[in-house]
Amino acid sequence: MVKRCPRCGHVFECRSNDIAHCQCTRVLMPHGLPSWVKELYNECLCEDCLRALAKEASDEAESSSKSS
Ligand SMILES: [Zn+2]
Ligand SMILES: [Zn+2]
Repeated sequence: MVKRCPRCGHVFECRSNDIAHCQCTRVLMPHGLPSWVKELYNECLCEDCLRALAKEASDEAESSSKSS
């Protein structure tokens, strides 16, 4: 089905309404979505946003591991 990304408004194709269970989410984020992404977005995001969030999550994990 075609959806509109709730983050950027981009139209994309997705097979699930649920970001936590969407198969494209699994492809882009093999380690799973951070919990804050699921809290922010109940719907699936476009590929660009998933990539951006995946990068944010990995940057965050990196910086928190450096500071500790
Ligand atoms: Zn988007
Ligand atoms: Zn999807």
